[in-house]
Amino acid sequence: MNMDFRINDEYVVDIVDMGDSGEGIGKVDGFTFFVGGGVVGDKLRVKLKTLKKSYAMAKMVEIVEPSQYRQKSDCPHFPECGGCQLRHVAYEAQLEMKRKKVASTLERIGGFKGVEVQPVLGMDSPYHYRNKCQFPAGQKDGRNMIGFYKRKTHEVQELNTCHLQSDLADQIVTRVKDWINMFPIEVYDEKKHTGLLRHLMLRESDATGEVMVVLVINGKELPFADELVKSLTGEFSEVTNIVLNKNTKRGNRVLGFDNEILFGNGKITDKIKDLKFEISPLSFFQVNNEQTLKLYGTALDYADLQGQETVYDIYSGIGTISLFLAEKAKHVYGIEVIDAAVEDARENALRNGVTNTTFVVGKAEEEIHKMYDRGIVGDVVVVDPPRKGCEESVLDTMLKMAPKRIVYVSCKVSTLARD
Ligand code: SAH
Repeated sequence: MNMDFRINDEYVVDIVDMGDSGEGIGKVDGFTFFVGGGVVGDKLRVKLKTLKKSYAMAKMVEIVEPSQYRQKSDCPHFPECGGCQLRHVAYEAQLEMKRKKVASTLERIGGFKGVEVQPVLGMDSPYHYRNKCQFPAGQKDGRNMIGFYKRKTHEVQELNTCHLQSDLADQIVTRVKDWINMFPIEVYDEKKHTGLLRHLMLRESDATGEVMVVLVINGKELPFADELVKSLTGEFSEVTNIVLNKNTKRGNRVLGFDNEILFGNGKITDKIKDLKFEISPLSFFQVNNEQTLKLYGTALDYADLQGQETVYDIYSGIGTISLFLAEKAKHVYGIEVIDAAVEDARENALRNGVTNTTFVVGKAEEEIHKMYDRGIVGDVVVVDPPRKGCEESVLDTMLKMAPKRIVYVSCKVSTLARD
């Protein structure tokens, strides 16, 4: 059928679905078209750009009838910036898209027919929520700048404002930009692997307002660092920490493993509900406090603990979920592969006066069955694996344990559905 389609010909297409990167999906004579910038409910005139066996990719030429869910983007950097995909779609519609995606993936990959997926718990106001942001440094027309990667590239574009972060973060970014133009600071060139300043990362505590500024460099020392420290701490009382992170390796990893403190003690404190956490540059911490509370609260509800249960928290990170569970359980066993995270988890337990947790360092697939063999049987098991999901042996041991409940926290619905 696709024999009839021709490159650069125009077609009219109704957008009926949206893909993972926010592209519109529609059909022409039963043939699938992907259209960048299309929104569910749009009728579009498009120009065919790429033709494959089972689908076509097309460019939007004209909106014949706009979707009721289409909205004007409120960001000057959209859609150029690779950070957001759906600023042209009303938030309520975004949430419904996500709900549908979960339902259809569970059905398609997991084979669950007619599974009920509840409405997504969104934010009241989905703005200024990120407690961590990172920006690449680059050059444009001979001027140093700090910005964002242009969508699907590693080309750095200048950033002036971002609705996902606080106004304070915008101001700090501006001040660092001033500094790299006032002093001879070389910015990093990813292709040549030369230059010094690679990234600026900010972490902001929701609970205390403290800000940690991290400068990632391709080298050992940062010239004119004193001037920067003076400028930032003089202007912003919130900046309690400035850290130099050294990453001299090529590649996409933003942070290296070597930190040098320029100001402060290298840690900021944040809270989720009444639990306190200390966060250092490399710690994993959920980026949206309001939503984290909902996520952990929901996991806790589903766990339905009565106070006498032995609970596993597998892939426990710095112990955030474990500490939540511990308030309602007899004992919580966390398993986590990263040594430093486990140390943080133990300290976080101490700091919060929690005494009924045990954190084990190791791979879940190796530790869980050893622990089970030693007689530690979970009444409830919580898992929160990385995107690749759980190893099969983890699932097998969970089945052997036959816990009353399994709560699966997932950041990727396709692996959740498979597992
Ligand atoms: N539950 C925590 C962290 C979840 S992120 C929170 O909400 O903050 C997933 C965690 O799984 C990471 O900390 C990662 O280091 C860990 N991890 C990845 N592979 C693992 C494995 N094979 N065994 C144990 N932990 C693993």
